[in-house]
Amino acid sequence: MKFYSTRDKNICVSGAEAIALGLAPGGGLFVPECFPAYAPDAAKDYPQLARDIFGLYLDEFSADEIAEIVRRSYQVGNFPADPAPLASVAGVEVLELWHGPTAAFKDMALQALPHLLSASRIKAGHDKDTVILVATSGDTGKAALAGFAGVEGTQIIVFYPLGGVSRMQELQMLTTDADNAFVVGVHGNFDDCQRAVKTIFNDAAFRTRLADGGKEFSSANSINFGRLMPQIVYYYHAYNQLLRAGKIKMGDKVDIAVPSGNFGNILAACYAGKMGLPVRRLVCASNENRVLTDVIASGRYDRRRDFFTTASPSMDILVSSNFERYVYHLLDGDTAAVAELYAKLDAEGVFELPAAAIAKMKEQLWGGCAPWDEVAEAIDSVYAAEHYVMDPHTAVGYAVCKQYQATFGADATPLILASTASPYKFPAAVLGALGEDVAAIAELEQGSALAELTAGEVHYALRGLDQLPICQDLTADKSELAEKVADILHV
Ligand SMILES: *Cc1c(COP(=O)(O)O)cnc(C)c1O
Repeated sequence: MKFYSTRDKNICVSGAEAIALGLAPGGGLFVPECFPAYAPDAAKDYPQLARDIFGLYLDEFSADEIAEIVRRSYQVGNFPADPAPLASVAGVEVLELWHGPTAAFKDMALQALPHLLSASRIKAGHDKDTVILVATSGDTGKAALAGFAGVEGTQIIVFYPLGGVSRMQELQMLTTDADNAFVVGVHGNFDDCQRAVKTIFNDAAFRTRLADGGKEFSSANSINFGRLMPQIVYYYHAYNQLLRAGKIKMGDKVDIAVPSGNFGNILAACYAGKMGLPVRRLVCASNENRVLTDVIASGRYDRRRDFFTTASPSMDILVSSNFERYVYHLLDGDTAAVAELYAKLDAEGVFELPAAAIAKMKEQLWGGCAPWDEVAEAIDSVYAAEHYVMDPHTAVGYAVCKQYQATFGADATPLILASTASPYKFPAAVLGALGEDVAAIAELEQGSALAELTAGEVHYALRGLDQLPICQDLTADKSELAEKVADILHV
């Protein structure tokens, strides 16, 4: 299996190299040359599915190597025996992707990526240690830390904006206890952190210093194919669960709805469809930041717009990086056309898809956006009807599912909704939606208040955080982050 850059057909590498590099030289993203056929099978459990699917894309790895990566990623301890159970709730099949160690769906891939990356670097002949730099606005930081903590041959440095994340998210990061993990509170905002990461990444002199110290950078964000591939697995797992429950017969189609930001999670569902999972339509859900809703409706990607801070912060994104991969497939792999569109996006902030591509997209994708009042109403009404508590990201998806069913009419085709976070990760918004006076509850008490109100249990990853010792104490000004990295890495 070869991987091409979305922007240059001449860049062609192995799967191991694609994962080791993260981003293709020249700014493109790596895409597989084809989609191997793979059929659902009710008899297969999650690790078996992961072994099969990883093996199809990483054919230079032996079955034993893949099995070891999968075992370490999804073993009990990281996840419950079923890492991604399905719950039938109020007309949709909710695929719970938040049972991992940081209570958000990013664990499904970030528990695997460090092992994939370590093995890929050896396979691709990279002999240096890997340094992962992450800028986070909250969720990605802890999920990446949890994945990379203690993984040999890697070091991870996370920047977060001081005062810019919730206390719960901050404590999740600061209580990380591992020799290879470093968390830096930055005097600056998230954009400052993100810009610093990009600048350090692209600094040739810094890379040389790093190489002299036996280290090199790679990427843990969702542009890495190593994060996309593990996400394909759970869509097959959902289908197999519907088969086992007798809700569908082999070959019956399903719809899949995904609350989207960077377009990574929904792209994995699209890839599952290309491999043979019977998918009728993909429903792309956005919050007030509706750049994806608009491009699906009009074919025009336009990031020149106001940015809204919402109750679903992990979807507050104006440039959905993985959409580039989708555009590449829509354009039948025409890398020159993709390069041209994305150069235009860079220069002018907008591009327009050709008519044929728009028609194709509209057959596969339906987009909707839900503002906070609809999201709050979704959380409240689903709780009232079913005693099921959704987090604000999942609730954006649920609200858009209702719009979708109102548009097309509900039919016998099951609608799978990806649930991307535990409600206990965002208790303030959930309590507010349920009509509670959040301001009267101290931030660190909100989780237990939600548990009490709904007779539920705080997610295990978020319990007793304020009792754990603080293991990280680095801070820095936004102007001195490169020196900080050099300090930490002794280069
Ligand atoms: C990252 C994230 C999303 C968005 O996923 P994409 O793959 O970026 O589209 C949605 N919900 C939660 C809770 C997230 O952490």
